[in-house]
Amino acid sequence: MRILVAMMKHETNTFSPIAADWKRFEDWSAYLGADALKAYEGTAMPMGAYIELAKSAGAEIITPIAAEAMPSGLVTAEAYNNLINPILDAVREGVDAAMLDLHGAMVSELTPDGEGTLLEKIREIDPDLPIAVTLDLHCNLTEKMVNNCTTLIGYKTYPHVDMYEVGKQIGQSLLDTIAGHIKPVMSWGNIPLISQTLCQGTDDEPMATLIRLCREAEEEPGVIAATAFGGFALADIKDSGNSVIIVTDGDKQKADEIRDRILAKAWALREDFVYKHTDLEERVSEAKKIEEGPVILLDHADNCGSGATQDVMTVIAEILRQDLQDVAVGAVWDPEAVQLMQKAGIGNEVSLKLGGKTDMPSIDEVGEPLFLTGKVKVLTNGEWIVRGPMYTGVKVFMGPTAVLEVGSMEIVIVSNHHEPWDTGVFTSVGIQPEHKRYLVLKSRIHYRAGFAPLAKHTMTLDGKGVTTSDNNLLEYKNVRRPVYPLDLINEA
Ligand SMILES: [Zn+2]
Repeated sequence: MRILVAMMKHETNTFSPIAADWKRFEDWSAYLGADALKAYEGTAMPMGAYIELAKSAGAEIITPIAAEAMPSGLVTAEAYNNLINPILDAVREGVDAAMLDLHGAMVSELTPDGEGTLLEKIREIDPDLPIAVTLDLHCNLTEKMVNNCTTLIGYKTYPHVDMYEVGKQIGQSLLDTIAGHIKPVMSWGNIPLISQTLCQGTDDEPMATLIRLCREAEEEPGVIAATAFGGFALADIKDSGNSVIIVTDGDKQKADEIRDRILAKAWALREDFVYKHTDLEERVSEAKKIEEGPVILLDHADNCGSGATQDVMTVIAEILRQDLQDVAVGAVWDPEAVQLMQKAGIGNEVSLKLGGKTDMPSIDEVGEPLFLTGKVKVLTNGEWIVRGPMYTGVKVFMGPTAVLEVGSMEIVIVSNHHEPWDTGVFTSVGIQPEHKRYLVLKSRIHYRAGFAPLAKHTMTLDGKGVTTSDNNLLEYKNVRRPVYPLDLINEA
């Protein structure tokens, strides 16, 4: 048996000014052929689980590609073709099954439904190919995706720490299907709700309830997988938003019933999926009064893990203005600043304009750098391996990296966009986060994977950026209407 195992991931924020070109994939990870197998075997990714399953089944493993880029704007036509063509070529050469590690919110110049289009093209070549798919919790599920695979599941955790488990669960169901033990049927549906990522943490309500319902459903006989997607509201496509998919062993009616039950609950909880705003100046002054650290301060509107530019300085400027002490910032994207600091050398003083290199036309903002004078404390190549619970075992490439010391603030500056979900963002540059009073993180929920265990307090700070949770700032053009909360929908 020949099993195709591949990964293709990008969460596309259609409001982001940063293009997802092929270089962006290469910067994060774009492995082809045997290199893809080598990079992901033994990792806690769905791809790692697929490789293990295919091996245990005694199959020949074909890994045409494993590629991911940090979230950003549209995937260019060239990048999209570079992603899908190796997979389609492998299908043309002949495989008996495919296990795919996908995201579910990829928007390309060529298609608003990157994953659905890939799956459709695979089935055009081989209409009966058994296909298992894992999708991110931030997937905007489409009919095309569901109609062109055999069995499908999403993560049940945000931060995503169950990637390996769901890969194993759905990959095993595909092997059981091929062996003739089960006959998967799927029911899916969505509701007119675009919920905010900040309100999708699975330890919090309302997501915790939806995930509990999914786990309970999976305990029922004949249920293969139950998934409640939070969706990704910053991808402005028709199907953006919350959805549910249930896979059962041949029982369509049961799948429909469970789907309807969970969707009804999600709809009933819709108000809880809308973030309530606070004033930045007031929040920073509240933070200043907290004695015990580490206090996590989330600069959530500039989270590159959802497509932000990671160089907006509003939150950092306010923290400096109010003179909070003993602060570490992870991280500001500014390759030019890193180069200047490399020229200056460790231990020397530099004056520079930090951040603000990227304009954000979708929210009508231009980049505003912050003029700072400080000391070059650390210079590294930005490479390290994740040892925490999310992306465990995967190598991170932050690009040339520097630490700027400004008073008692240490700012990590990176050359590739990188969301700080793991403490490695600090430990790799010699900062011990557990001993800092304040940690400013350009993250929304993923930071919890590495930082929740050491956080004494956590606060959201509403700065500027294209991962804003303020719908009034965003001009939606493509999402189906009416949709909550853009259009208030009151029926039960
Ligand atoms: Zn996600």
